[in-house]
Amino acid sequence: MSEQKPPILWPQTLMFAITFAVAAIGVPWYGFTVGFHWTQWLAFVVILGANGMSITAGYHRLWAHNAYKAHWSLRLFYALFGAAAFQNSILIWASGHRRHHRHVDDIDHDPYSAKKGLWFSHMGWMIRDYEAGRDDFSNAPDLMRDKIVMWQHNHYMKIALFMNVAPAAFAGWLCGDVWAGILLAGFLRLVVSHHTTFFINSLAHFWGRQPYTDENSARDNDILALFTYGEGYHNYHHIFQNDYRNGIRWWHFDPTKWLIKTCSWLGLTWDLKKVPDFKIQRAIVAMQFRKAEEKLKQAKAVDVGAVTAFLEQEYQQFSASLQEFKELSQKTYADKVQQLAESKERLQQKWEEVSLKSRCKELEYNLKMQARRLRVLTLELQAATA
Ligand SMILES: [Zn+2]
Ligand SMILES: [Zn+2]
Repeated sequence: MSEQKPPILWPQTLMFAITFAVAAIGVPWYGFTVGFHWTQWLAFVVILGANGMSITAGYHRLWAHNAYKAHWSLRLFYALFGAAAFQNSILIWASGHRRHHRHVDDIDHDPYSAKKGLWFSHMGWMIRDYEAGRDDFSNAPDLMRDKIVMWQHNHYMKIALFMNVAPAAFAGWLCGDVWAGILLAGFLRLVVSHHTTFFINSLAHFWGRQPYTDENSARDNDILALFTYGEGYHNYHHIFQNDYRNGIRWWHFDPTKWLIKTCSWLGLTWDLKKVPDFKIQRAIVAMQFRKAEEKLKQAKAVDVGAVTAFLEQEYQQFSASLQEFKELSQKTYADKVQQLAESKERLQQKWEEVSLKSRCKELEYNLKMQARRLRVLTLELQAATA
């Protein structure tokens, strides 16, 4: 490329290089010459988890997306253990992440645009002074009103250094070897924590399926979810970013969602945002139409007329469902407003509310069936392509 690259940011680059070298060389060397006790490994796992989930549940879902509200004690925990991840202050991280969602894939405005390649979106964006990576808090006035966010931002370096050394050294001391603690729960933990989080910006935009939208590069990937505390369901996350869940099915591995939900039973979190199932189904069906049409173009030896007529009929049903859902939502809203005005007729309205809800459920079910029919069609067309 003829274009001049921006200058290297040496503090970040050295931090990544030195911590990586210690984890890759120092840790195995110490392991072979002195050895690690299993309790040191346990400390590594516990501090890694606290650190990782403070990023996913705190930095990401709480502060960048306002997906729920949290008690100050939990926010303080996230602020402390999130700083241990050495990924910048909450304010810098969350405002950058909001730009990522707003301008996703844009080469000039998405700070870690996947369109600039796997390496750039993984780490490259942090080690040079790119324009899109510069601090801009204009999209985060709410965070600037959060006292814990601002305290962490103003004292970031001290907190980050302390939280990287103190818990690791303390755990090492408890297990009888301070250096082993620093190497495992300090260095190795930091490097593992870095790359697992960075995978969400890199691999989760390259590898996996797109069940909800193909308007951006984000993917759903069960394997990545295992390493990223549930953030691997990134296609869902990019279309419904304010949902406190990323993996929406019960079998999806999303420990961040489980943590937030468990904390809600303890009164530590509340106002958990969830996208209505109908909207999720709507996105799936719309995507199924796109896939079926795509496959139809490539398919050979199929009755194109019959398939087009089938799709046309399905599409009409889809539009009718959407229209009816819109009317039902408006009616529910109007009823709620009326209910506030006239509390005498509550019983009647309660009954109506129940019947509206069951109709909404029926519509949701219709969409689910549609998605299934379209999936079968797409598979048939795919077979006809091969
Ligand atoms: Zn993303
Ligand atoms: Zn996000």
